[in-house]
Amino acid sequence: MKAVRWHARAGASLDEIAEPILPSDRAIIVAVEACGVCGTDYEEVQHGPKVIPVGRPHPLTRRMAPLVMGHEILGRVVSRGARATQPVGQRVVLWPQIPCRDCPACRAGNDHQCPRLGALGLSADGGFASLVVTDERNAVPIAEELPLDRAVLVEPYAVALHAFAQHSPIDKTVAVLGIGSVGLALVETAVALGARRVIAVSRSTDNLKAALRAGAEVAVTAEAMPVHAADLAIDASGAADAMTLLAHALADRATAVIVGVRSRVVPAPIWEVFSRELSVVGSNGMRLTEFAGAAAMITSGRLAAAPRQVSRISLAELPDVLRSGPAPGTKIVAVPD
Ligand SMILES: [Zn+2]
Ligand SMILES: [Zn+2]
Repeated sequence: MKAVRWHARAGASLDEIAEPILPSDRAIIVAVEACGVCGTDYEEVQHGPKVIPVGRPHPLTRRMAPLVMGHEILGRVVSRGARATQPVGQRVVLWPQIPCRDCPACRAGNDHQCPRLGALGLSADGGFASLVVTDERNAVPIAEELPLDRAVLVEPYAVALHAFAQHSPIDKTVAVLGIGSVGLALVETAVALGARRVIAVSRSTDNLKAALRAGAEVAVTAEAMPVHAADLAIDASGAADAMTLLAHALADRATAVIVGVRSRVVPAPIWEVFSRELSVVGSNGMRLTEFAGAAAMITSGRLAAAPRQVSRISLAELPDVLRSGPAPGTKIVAVPD
């Protein structure tokens, strides 16, 4: 089958690879209907390796580059192991994370914090292919009638739900920095959950327009951002100056949430954090339960999940797009032939 694989520093290419086989009796094979391209994918191709293991296998999946990329996967079950219960033919979205399911974190329900956590498309073959194999417990059924363009967006909305599960946006002024897939999902989810108002901050005018459509009351560049106004400020940009912008955005004693990271170390305005008693917390990925919650909210229409132009491309077009990045304001979705 055709698949777009990441090859260490040589970037990504369209390769002919063997079709997957069922590795366990709870595994399923899913025919990919569509797979979203997210910031992590561009980052991995343009500046990687960041997450994909090179030269040393991932401790849980035992896999390393070359790997099939893609972790925002919508598809249909086409075969299953002897003990799997997902019906063949079921349309599903895939929770991309791969936990060990056996450590204290996993047993406590914090499967997203498993110390050996892997992910489809990053430490196991992902969805930029005709077929993908996964444990059936990663598959969340999704309604047939939900349009592809919305069904494929569950993952970024689940990232948003996870952040707000820990830091409620209800009746708060919420600032969102960086309006990509996750930033837009944060804006829309904050509004849906009852934020008093949402401030969106981005360099791209197209993305700012999308943020307004998603329900932001204010959509501005960093220079025009209201200062010391937010009760909750969330960074989805991973920019080097993110900590400084978050501090400017926050009211005294308010909380900054980090959901996107590009560099392991960035400068922080430690005096402001200290003197104005700011909190800085992380929110990493999402639990399976939150992924299922996002799928349900999109299915019910509580989240419209449609503020941005979705543009569909073939797997053959994907390697170039991964190298050059998306057009501003566009979400790229790969659709296998
Ligand atoms: Zn993603
Ligand atoms: Zn675990």
